[in-house]
Amino acid sequence: MIKITGSCHCARVKIQIPKNLNDVRLCYCQTCQKLSGSAFSAVSMVAAHDFIILKGQDNLTHYKSSPNKTRFHCKTCFSPIYVQLDSKPNEKRIRLGLLNEEPTVNITAHIWVSEKPDWVVINDDLPQLQEFV
Ligand SMILES: [Zn+2]
Ligand SMILES: [Zn+2]
Repeated sequence: MIKITGSCHCARVKIQIPKNLNDVRLCYCQTCQKLSGSAFSAVSMVAAHDFIILKGQDNLTHYKSSPNKTRFHCKTCFSPIYVQLDSKPNEKRIRLGLLNEEPTVNITAHIWVSEKPDWVVINDDLPQLQEFV
C-alpha cells in the first residue's frame, strides 16, 4: 500500500496521504509566487479523507488569500501545509514541497501561465493554461 508522508520544515506538523498524486499542476500565479518565494508551485488536489494530519493540527495557522481560499501554514516555520477552498470542502490542495518521499507524480498542465515571469522558460509539451479556476 502506498503511503506518502509529508511535514513542514520544523517537523512539528506531519501528514500522510495513502495515494499517489495523479494530477499535479505547476502554477505560476502571482499568489503562488508571493507565498512560495519562487517562480511557481507544484500543486496537487487530494481528497479531504485522504489527507491525514498525524500531528501538529494545533500548530496550524491560516491566512485567507482570497475570498474563497484559506491557506494553512505551520505556526512555527510558516511552511504551507494545505489550501482549503470554501467551494470544495471535500478536497485539499497541497504543494509537493510538503512531501518527504518522492512519490510517482504525473504533471498534467502548467496553469496561470499568463502570470508566469518571463525568466521562467517552459521546455515541455504539456498544456499551458493562461488561467485556472
Ligand atoms: Zn513547521
Ligand atoms: Zn497559483
